[in-house]
Amino acid sequence: MKVAIPKEIKNNEFRVAITPAGVYDLVSNGHEVLVETGAGLGSSITDESYAAAGATIMPTAESTWAAAEMLLKVKEPVESEYVHFRAGLVLFTYLHLAAEPELTRALLQGGVTAIAYETVQLPSRALPLLAPMSEVAGRLAPIVGANAMLKPNGGPGLLVPGVPGTHPAKITVLGGGVAGTAAMQVALGLGAEVTVLDTNLFRLRELDALHYGRVKTIASNGFEIDKAVLDSDMVIGSVLIPGARAPKLVSNDLVSRMRPGSVLVDIAVDQGGCFADSHSTTHADPTFTVHGSLFYCVANMPGAVPNTSTYALTNATLPYVRAVANRGWKDALRADPALALGLNTFDGVLTNGPVATAHGLEY
Ligand code: NAD
Repeated sequence: MKVAIPKEIKNNEFRVAITPAGVYDLVSNGHEVLVETGAGLGSSITDESYAAAGATIMPTAESTWAAAEMLLKVKEPVESEYVHFRAGLVLFTYLHLAAEPELTRALLQGGVTAIAYETVQLPSRALPLLAPMSEVAGRLAPIVGANAMLKPNGGPGLLVPGVPGTHPAKITVLGGGVAGTAAMQVALGLGAEVTVLDTNLFRLRELDALHYGRVKTIASNGFEIDKAVLDSDMVIGSVLIPGARAPKLVSNDLVSRMRPGSVLVDIAVDQGGCFADSHSTTHADPTFTVHGSLFYCVANMPGAVPNTSTYALTNATLPYVRAVANRGWKDALRADPALALGLNTFDGVLTNGPVATAHGLEY
């Protein structure tokens, strides 16, 4: 199969969907790998290292898309890429269609077979292709939040760990899944006082068993969220209802009652955000203010650490990419129910239940 990888063109996105190890693997399996020139530079991977692993370097985005039977990306296509959509193309990437009505329409009109990393789901309900990026975004969240707390950055001027004789920052994490757990670990490492809220008591039990005495675990409901948020210097939003828009857990009114200069990091902004006032921001201009609180809502947080993220992502995607390339997408999906759940659009039809519901369509 011809597997092509274009350069990412979303604002400040430096990840790439394949590494030289991935090229080597696919070429060893008899496939042709075509990589747009410069695609890996943001992750410190040169054309030469791709070529040495067996890739053909393509001169332009147009030629890369045109050559693809399967096209691998990192982020959802941006509007200027919709012109490349065509029937029969297999697109394997993050899509987040529940929050992307125009992209959904374009994929359906183009007849693209779109498999979304984020809806590939194991029988355990774990999301193997979201997990590595959730780990990265989660570990990054308290770091960017701590940075936003500095006075010159518009924050209250609070050092997260404090120093002997002063109070450390209080950090509340909403959603103790993969991203929330990673956020909690780094927040603890930074010396913060940490509270985690989740609706899943089993998850809270696991976190309690691992971190008893160092982290407070609280059942998530409106009453407890209000209480925890009002007592926090930083709130990290990391809830997820797979494939659906994030529930709005922190209202504008609640923010108005928070400590002046408090920081809210909405990791879930790529699913619409779990704070009422969240809207996607970019690494170039990551924060905005609501009632004197600073919101950080970058939808592609792992893009800030591409040298970690590219490898973390491709470690997870490669076995699925190999399966689709070796067997063809239909047989690969038939053989693996987890991968089958990744199919979002095919031949003009929306094939994912929660995404269809988010668009008010019958499924
Ligand atoms: P996950 O499924 O592992 O965890 C989500 C957790 O939220 C679960 O434990 C679930 O029980 C909990 N939850 C659901 N409803 C809740 C509620 N009302 N109150 C409290 N907890 C609730 O998901 P994840 O992999 O950690 O992903 C979290 C979010 O981070 C997703 O929206 C994902 O798309 C996003 N994400 C964003 C970026 C970024 O760059 N901004 C990167 C990676 C992931």
